[in-house]
Amino acid sequence: MFKLISNANLYIPQSIGIGHVLCCDKKIVYVGSQKPEIGGGLVLEETDFEGRRLIPGLIDGHTHITGGGGETGFASRVPTVALSNFTSAGVTTAIGLLGTDDVTRSTSSLIAGTLALREEGMSAWCYTGGYHFPLTTLTDSAIKDITHIDCVIGIGELAISDHRSSQISWRELARIASEAHVAGLITGKAGIVHLHLGDGESGLSLLKKVFKKTELPNRVLNPTHVNRLSSLFEEACELVETGTYIDLTAYPMADDDPGISIKNAVSDYFNKGLPNDRLTISSDGGGCLPVFDKNGELSSLDFARCSSLSNALDELVRNGVELEDVLPLFTSNVATLLRLKNKGHIAMGLDADLVSLDENNKIHDVMCRGQWHMQDKKLVIKGTFE
Ligand SMILES: [Zn+2]
Repeated sequence: MFKLISNANLYIPQSIGIGHVLCCDKKIVYVGSQKPEIGGGLVLEETDFEGRRLIPGLIDGHTHITGGGGETGFASRVPTVALSNFTSAGVTTAIGLLGTDDVTRSTSSLIAGTLALREEGMSAWCYTGGYHFPLTTLTDSAIKDITHIDCVIGIGELAISDHRSSQISWRELARIASEAHVAGLITGKAGIVHLHLGDGESGLSLLKKVFKKTELPNRVLNPTHVNRLSSLFEEACELVETGTYIDLTAYPMADDDPGISIKNAVSDYFNKGLPNDRLTISSDGGGCLPVFDKNGELSSLDFARCSSLSNALDELVRNGVELEDVLPLFTSNVATLLRLKNKGHIAMGLDADLVSLDENNKIHDVMCRGQWHMQDKKLVIKGTFE
């Protein structure tokens, strides 16, 4: 069946005004200002968007799809993130990973979780490895995991500058990065090491050493959580000038947090005149969020949700950033870094991953690979056990 979205205000992610998008099966087959005619007995379902903004589906480049946590005892292991957690936040593509607990959690179960999301209609890929070195893998090496397993696109989240890391040396990091890079060349996949940054004093010094001492391209090392400290953010911005892509985490941030909010980080980044295509934002969804009371005692445990991404988008636009300027951080920039050729834009031949926003920047409709998952703010597809 053909699905026509008519009279949408199109952000592809650039703003191109009112137009129409025709989808067939999982693909976009037409984008334009002229409304296409479908005849000859072909079935057409038309939805009039009455001027609502239509954007590419968001790509969440850092999410603990099988559940993260586990840092305050076994009972703190976060459960699997259900499908609607993603789709209700406008996320149509998820990149899964393992974090601190890469001991009771495995690459095997992460791959199964990735394939489960695909079965449920989303697009999903994952990293091999986790916080620690030697890397947790499915085969006997990361390079083989990336080369031979379809949904594995790189290594992550490998921890540095963090008390929970394996305290690796620059030589070990270079060796790991070389596996990701070469596997990326062999397969055309992302071929990056997605690096968890803690708040350790060494910051990004390991990356700088690797860039100085080896021939590896700077895109191969991709630091995330760089907004957790303002000093770390400044250091990361300096690396951007040399070709590194940096990733912000859409944390819910308390007033006394030493980090820098998404709103301030993005405006700082734009004010510095840094390349627009090297900044991305992810949710850390499924990761553990401890809640402390005013005496600093752990009062409850919660987990990060992918809705922090759609909330960040809303916050940025409400604070006066143009939607077309900020959308690439959630869509096309992520697709470019991860070499997801069919993602991140609204264009003919690409996957039909589409999201519409209401006048308050809230998610109104969501289509994943040609299937409506949310229409008029109602979930029409839910996960297997939701
Ligand atoms: Zn992390």
